[in-house]
Amino acid sequence: MNSYDVAIIGSGPGGYVAAIRCAQLGLKTAIIEKYSTLGGTCLNVGCIPSKALLDSSHHYEDAVKHFEEHGIDIPGEIKVNLKQMIARKQAVVDTTTGGIDFLMKKNNIDVYQGLGSFKDATHITISGEKETEIEAKNTIIATGSKPSSLPFINIDKERIITSTEALKLKEIPKHMIVIGGGVIGLELGQVYKRLGAEVSVIEYMDRIIPTMDSGLSKELNKVLKKQKFKINTSHKVKSVERKGDEIIVKADNKKGEEVEFKGDYCLVSVGRRPYTDGLNAEAAGVKLNDKGQVEVNDHLQTATKNIYAIGDVIKGAMLAHKAEEEGVFVAETIAGQKPHIDYNLIPGVVYTWPEVATVGQTEEQLKEAGVEYKVGQFPMRALGRSRASMDLDGFVKILADKTTDEILGFHMVGARAADLVAEAVVAMEYRASAEDISRMSHAHPTFAEAVKEAALAATDNRALHV
Ligand code: FAD
Ligand code: NAD
Repeated sequence: MNSYDVAIIGSGPGGYVAAIRCAQLGLKTAIIEKYSTLGGTCLNVGCIPSKALLDSSHHYEDAVKHFEEHGIDIPGEIKVNLKQMIARKQAVVDTTTGGIDFLMKKNNIDVYQGLGSFKDATHITISGEKETEIEAKNTIIATGSKPSSLPFINIDKERIITSTEALKLKEIPKHMIVIGGGVIGLELGQVYKRLGAEVSVIEYMDRIIPTMDSGLSKELNKVLKKQKFKINTSHKVKSVERKGDEIIVKADNKKGEEVEFKGDYCLVSVGRRPYTDGLNAEAAGVKLNDKGQVEVNDHLQTATKNIYAIGDVIKGAMLAHKAEEEGVFVAETIAGQKPHIDYNLIPGVVYTWPEVATVGQTEEQLKEAGVEYKVGQFPMRALGRSRASMDLDGFVKILADKTTDEILGFHMVGARAADLVAEAVVAMEYRASAEDISRMSHAHPTFAEAVKEAALAATDNRALHV
């Protein structure tokens, strides 16, 4: 039987990054993955394919709506070739997952394909083509998550679908009903909206992206409505029925009146649930909580001290980069180091266009905590760079402590927000003040100038270009 210092169950961004860091630290490492490709949800059916389709559909939208204004005439009709778009997406996925195979080989990590199940706290059986057993001094559970649903919905994977099916549709929906106005609903909703579908979003809460700063919800709502999304907040879905090719969704609106939506596809995007099926966690003494998450302490250690858990299967944001940080954290902990993660500085991004990005505290959180803060906000449309590319929507909002000027939150809707949030993460990691950012040179013309201007606005209301 093969013996390892560390075995990792699950090869998503949490698992494969943990494996690389363990190997870098000289630990003999194995990774177990039940699917034939490595990379987990993120690389196979999550981050990467969704961004590939967002990029393709963005090009299409630009060609149809903006090329003429830019002085680019395309003779003939511009058409979507959905088959090719999906094939390109798959090629991007294949290259990316192939890259993980390479990284495992390069770092001498043994890869086992099959379902990993605990026999006890130091032995794992792997049931693949043939059953294998390995021994591990330490194990990291990185089994991720699966789409969740509502009890009365029958996901048929044809017309009542999750994100996984939405990434490989064979036709453009005429009317896609999206249940859940969170990250998946809005990103994949925007893909099909751009390709010509009517998109109706039904959200239970009183605003879309309800966990983010309410200013971002309001701005994104405004922008998506301009893009002709139909957004229905404060709607409680009661039933989802399929009749032939038609989907009928019934919901109660804010006034308690029944509203009916009819479409040809329904995307269910109401969140994801931790995944531990087949893991046989009990055999190793690993405890789950009432949400089905693997229970861990501050060292990400489970109830059994040589077994750790990371990523979507534990508490916290379900984000690839959060899983990666935790993978490194656990590898270093096992190697005897004392790593640290600041969960307050894990950024969140919605890859719609304009993008939405956030890090730190929201206004709602600061109010609730009784922190006195000041706000510096700057509209993207005031930048020369925005006018050059016609990306006028959105703003940067910086929240800073009223007394010390320390930056407490950064919230942005706008072009390239996903990349610009990194500046805020660096600033906040070093506990910069708004004035610090306002005194740093930002290249002109760039979208980053909006960050400087918002910092100037927060410092003492002295933005230069509004
Ligand atoms: P996962 O990536 O879910 O990987 C877990 C792996 O474990 C899977 O491969 C699974 O097959 C395997 N596994 C499970 N049980 C066993 C077992 N018993 N034996 C062997 N293998 C097992 N996050 C972002 O940060 N940015 C984004 O842009 C983004 N976009 C997304 C878009 C979509 C459509 C979706 C669905 C998710 C997106 N996410 C995004 C979320 C991101 O994918 C997850 O947060 C991330 O994949 C979590 O990583 P993980 O390693 O914890 O688990
Ligand atoms: P989410 O939590 O972002 O959004 C779910 C939405 O559904 C919420 O707005 C919620 O209020 C709403 N909802 C819940 N129950 C409802 C109901 N009964 N009726 C109507 N609306 C309801 O979840 P998601 O969009 O499914 O994404 C799952 C996870 O994947 C998220 O945690 C997210 O972090 C991750 N993800 C991240 C990215 C990214 O980082 N860009 C992209 C996609 C997914």
